[in-house]
Amino acid sequence: MVIDLEIFSPVQQINDQLFAEWDLLVYIKRDDLIHSIISGNKWRKLKYLLKKAQSQNKTHLVTFGGAYSNHLLATAAAAAQFGFKATGIVRGEQVDNDTLFMCRLHGMHLMFTDRESYRDKPALFDKYFADDNQAFFIDEGGASPEAALGCSELVNELTETYDHIFCACGTGTMAAGIINGITQHQLPTQLHAIPVFKNGDFIANEIDKLLTVPANYQLHTDYHFGGYGKVNNELIRFIKKFVADTGVLIDPIYTGKMLYAIYDLAAKNYFKRGSKILAIHSGGIWGLLGMKDRF
Ligand SMILES: *Cc1c(COP(=O)(O)O)cnc(C)c1O
Repeated sequence: MVIDLEIFSPVQQINDQLFAEWDLLVYIKRDDLIHSIISGNKWRKLKYLLKKAQSQNKTHLVTFGGAYSNHLLATAAAAAQFGFKATGIVRGEQVDNDTLFMCRLHGMHLMFTDRESYRDKPALFDKYFADDNQAFFIDEGGASPEAALGCSELVNELTETYDHIFCACGTGTMAAGIINGITQHQLPTQLHAIPVFKNGDFIANEIDKLLTVPANYQLHTDYHFGGYGKVNNELIRFIKKFVADTGVLIDPIYTGKMLYAIYDLAAKNYFKRGSKILAIHSGGIWGLLGMKDRF
């Protein structure tokens, strides 16, 4: 089976009084529309990993994530679509939620593990799958050079040149991939990464490891809203207004924080007048389901 999806990820303008006042042109690349479940950067990150598994005749994807992981869910759906068996090793005690329900629905086998053992993923893989020569290890979040390569292809699709590209940042793989794409196409574009967790400075090491050529980029570490998966009323208010104003659904874990950063920086006169800014909608809207009670 050929492992591929036809990419539909249009760029559309975000019109807002704030951007008009500061003479900014702001756009959003709709990677969330790539697939309803294997959405956003998750398809880009999985593509070359699945091709690698296939080339090694591996038929069983084994991967890792928290109980609300978009990556687990995307892997479950990709495995189903492209004919792999899938096991998800989930951090923490056995629970059930909408994300895990959807993983199971796509045929993923789930195994729960205590937080201590979860830290050493290769050891867990060896413990349970040493005898399974069909098993293929995919790290948490899909983090890998293959995933960065897949994300770099986003830049090939751009038909305009932007002064700034913004993306949310978990493992930093997508940010690294986009920087590599910018380098490869010799664009004058500055990449801005928004870590969605506290003390995000360390992520620069992870990004740098995946760069094909050293490059500079901007890390904004003040938009985590208290940490991974944390929100406050201001962020929720922003998301409600953004969705109601634009019709573009965004999640509070990743894309909501990244877009908040763009609006906040614009209001603080961070950008030169006339700047063209592209936000990457990296998908993950199912993350909303775990946070209904906050809205
Ligand atoms: C997984 C995810 C990210 C993080 O991507 P990294 O490559 O791990 O930095 C960003 N946005 C969404 C919606 C995601 O699901």
